[in-house]
Amino acid sequence: MEVQVSSPELVSAHRVLRCVQCGKCTAGCPVSTNSVLNVRGLLNEILLQPSLAFNSEESELWQCTTCMTCSSRCPKGIKPLDVIIQVRSQLIESGRIQPTMRDALESTFLHGNPWGKPREKRNDWAADLKVREADPKAKLDLVYYVGCTVAYDPRLQKLARAMVKVLEKAGVAFGILGIEESCCGNEVRRMGEEGLFEELKENNLKLFQERGARQLMTTSPHCFNVFKNEYSPFEGDVRHYTQVIWELIQEERLSFSKELGWRVTYHDPCFLGKQNDIFEEPRGILGKIPGLEFAELDRNREMFANP
Ligand code: SF4
Ligand code: SF4
Repeated sequence: MEVQVSSPELVSAHRVLRCVQCGKCTAGCPVSTNSVLNVRGLLNEILLQPSLAFNSEESELWQCTTCMTCSSRCPKGIKPLDVIIQVRSQLIESGRIQPTMRDALESTFLHGNPWGKPREKRNDWAADLKVREADPKAKLDLVYYVGCTVAYDPRLQKLARAMVKVLEKAGVAFGILGIEESCCGNEVRRMGEEGLFEELKENNLKLFQERGARQLMTTSPHCFNVFKNEYSPFEGDVRHYTQVIWELIQEERLSFSKELGWRVTYHDPCFLGKQNDIFEEPRGILGKIPGLEFAELDRNREMFANP
């Protein structure tokens, strides 16, 4: 389905008139290397044409990974990613989107996760562990927000189980939200579904309040990003698990004894590194593991995409 999007609205909302067509956005975009999305070209079309037509199901705008490289590199302070999200929201409104996206959004609305899994199974990863549920009366150091993918994907459930082991080993008093935990909405918002995002946010804020969750720890950089930056009026503290582990090491509550004898590298997640400036904690942890040889990638930290 073809959707017409008005250009003047985008120009004024995102200060597109400042664009000097330098192409830094396109040069840094990891998707543009496959020639499917040209960010500079998009802004040029917005400037030159009164309205643009997008195919709501097949538009190249759906290729954007929301990594934010374009916005962080623009010398004129334009945020092309925000332009893309605004256009996406109009494509979503048309109701004609790819079935995979429709299913993920519908499942998030119905079950609180994008994977089509029942809410009652959200806590299965911890079935044989004695993990307490967060309760306002308990004096907890933190509440562990597990996240949809880690809670349901069997390959990642072991990550949550390992996290429990680490926190217990360090003597951290923590709880989880159990089957009441719902999607954080980071991706929902970036797909352009602002209405569903607001609903998730409202419900999650209510749950955090009810459970006394003022110190949140997340597994995913995406959940971390949205709780930290887009959950106003949440006034609690949000940390990524790499920050928590690094703190525990520095407080000498956690140490490593086993020699691994591995050569490893580290990929900076967009939502942790370039979007939230957390570069050193994960590297600090790796540096403390005996027998680990760390090799930095050529394009590290905020330079993960095209230089
Ligand atoms: S980096 Fe900024 S100024 Fe340069 S082309 Fe992209 S949007 Fe325009
Ligand atoms: S956010 Fe990343 S993937 Fe999306 S247009 Fe910008 S640079 Fe490309």
